Amino acid sequence: MTRPKDAEARRAIAPVICYPNETLPAVPLDLYWGARAGARKVDEALAAPREACAFRVKAGQFFRISSVEGPQVGDLNLWNANDLNERFYSGKSRALHGTHLTTGERMWSSFPYLRPMATIIEDTLEWYGMDGFGGSVHDVIGTRCDPYTGNLLQGSQYHHCCHSNLIRALAEAEGLSLKEAEPLVHDVLNVFMCTGFTRDTGQYFMKASPVRPGDYLEFFAEIDLLGALSACPGGDCSSEHSSDTAACYPLLVEVFEPEAGALGAWQSPPVNGYDRSHGMA
Ligand SMILES: [Zn+2]
Repeated sequence: MTRPKDAEARRAIAPVICYPNETLPAVPLDLYWGARAGARKVDEALAAPREACAFRVKAGQFFRISSVEGPQVGDLNLWNANDLNERFYSGKSRALHGTHLTTGERMWSSFPYLRPMATIIEDTLEWYGMDGFGGSVHDVIGTRCDPYTGNLLQGSQYHHCCHSNLIRALAEAEGLSLKEAEPLVHDVLNVFMCTGFTRDTGQYFMKASPVRPGDYLEFFAEIDLLGALSACPGGDCSSEHSSDTAACYPLLVEVFEPEAGALGAWQSPPVNGYDRSHGMA
């Protein structure tokens, strides 16, 4: 390998932010918080340990994911309840907001829709910030644990990875076969998971989640949503995943409906405005 003479000068160039996000649509948190204050609980679902649950949230409702019983991370998928082709796009959400999401940030949908699906309105782990290892909570940098990677690395056949849990939950909720459901499952918001990249090797790492029973992450549904949440077999992800070794606990999903009129003139966001001609006349 030949190192150019100006290597250090090139390395010293300061980075620029890829997507300055000041021009993103404003997030009306005060409106959401006001509506949430008078909201009543209308539904709940429980993701059992090493299983996933599905839930539905109408546009304008709220949903809360809570730790109960013990530290546990969850893998969250979201679809447009009326069109499963529109689903959460973790890569673009990462490009717009950074590696981990918190209050005031959004889960964006896939192309060609690219609009907010859900907005985080409260995060009891926001205090964690970024730790000395470069770790933080609720990432959009991981994928979801899956049986294929386990098979690749260890030759295993494990059936309760988040990928499989999400497939079963979606298949049951929508009356789909496993083969139909699998391509609809996508990369997740890693709820409560504490992750980062090592500075020296750039490898994805996890560490024990700081979540404790009573902690929660709460969202405003911007469109009609079908959600699926897997209680990861990694438990708090302090040691390993993709096995039955870790202590695992359930995760609770609760849905809240605001009082009529509480959202004023709020409207569900339209799909993205790009004309989709892609340069063809
Ligand atoms: Zn998992």
